[in-house]
Amino acid sequence: MSNFENFLQAWPAQRRSAYLEKADSRAVRQVLGKAADGILSPEDFLVLLSPAAQELLEEVAQRAHQLSLRHFGRQVSIFTPLYVSDVCTNQCRYCGFNARNKQKRRHLDETEAEAEALAIARQGFQHILLLTGDARHLSSPEYLAGIVRRIRGRFASIGIEVYALSEAEYAFLIEAGVDSMTMFQETYNPELYAWLHPAGPKRDYSFRLSAPERAARAGIRSLGLGALLGLENFAQDAFATGLHAWWLQRQFPGVEISLSIPRICAHEGSFTVQHGVTDRELALYVCALRCFLPKAGITCSSRESAWMRNNLIPLGVTRVSAGVSTAVGGRATANLHNPGQFEINDSRSLAQMSSDLAGLGYQAILKDWEDPAPPLADAAS
Ligand code: SF4
Repeated sequence: MSNFENFLQAWPAQRRSAYLEKADSRAVRQVLGKAADGILSPEDFLVLLSPAAQELLEEVAQRAHQLSLRHFGRQVSIFTPLYVSDVCTNQCRYCGFNARNKQKRRHLDETEAEAEALAIARQGFQHILLLTGDARHLSSPEYLAGIVRRIRGRFASIGIEVYALSEAEYAFLIEAGVDSMTMFQETYNPELYAWLHPAGPKRDYSFRLSAPERAARAGIRSLGLGALLGLENFAQDAFATGLHAWWLQRQFPGVEISLSIPRICAHEGSFTVQHGVTDRELALYVCALRCFLPKAGITCSSRESAWMRNNLIPLGVTRVSAGVSTAVGGRATANLHNPGQFEINDSRSLAQMSSDLAGLGYQAILKDWEDPAPPLADAAS
């Protein structure tokens, strides 16, 4: 079976740049016409990420809005993250949990993690995302499965955003009750990736890049992808992320594929952002994704402000977080008052988010998928 890393090699940076530079307003309008009822190619996606498309952002936004209404209606699903450990052995240059950051660390035991999760459930959340640093000796698959088994009766969906696992480990966690997995590749530029990750298991670019494929083969229901925008030239990583989702949709048609659009923001440490992404670029990215992958979910986290998130929803964002803390503990157990992994810019609670969505004409969805209907014989009994 082919893998995405091989597929991506057919799209070297120079080839992407050539399409981006060649695109003009005529090409952008042609692609927007095709997007109304047709299927876009990766080349079309590049046209929508080009400087020429930025000049026509209003027109691109109109098409994206139409497609969002057609495929998702006026519904936005809500989830919240639960950080269970900030112990990490990696040295990602852009992250506040970097092992070189000399701060006290907190690792919840299973009972503490359960208490935090139940506090979240009591707020009304049905979708929870468990996050850890990369420290297998503490946050092992067995530890994660133990938490999941304790809380699975309280949530409709339990996702994980953890280090890259083997296929057997994904199957083990799915068996325990995990139904979705998010994996940020951070950047799809292998040389830049090597520089950003000088030490630790995350250094293995290929193992991380192929993690979604392993989770899909293991039977995961839903996969989330993303690049950390700002590390690499915007259009380069935006294209590679969309291409990754496009490829996964074709390889694993039964798996729900979604994308996240995180922009790097302030953290503990001293990382200089080389390729800051503007609000217009972020909006263009959401629109281009919606046109290229009309049925893919798009997640926008609380890295973005309430204003930005409110404005991105009509363009294609289908899932947002609420009630967010990126620190470990604090809801039902002690925390160390450490800074979280990153600074959040939207601290709305579930109730505030639901109310604001209603004000925008959207309905907040807490459980966005249903178990299959029982067989008729069972239903009648
Ligand atoms: S990004 Fe993740 S793996 Fe890297 S230092 Fe932060 S917590 Fe650890």
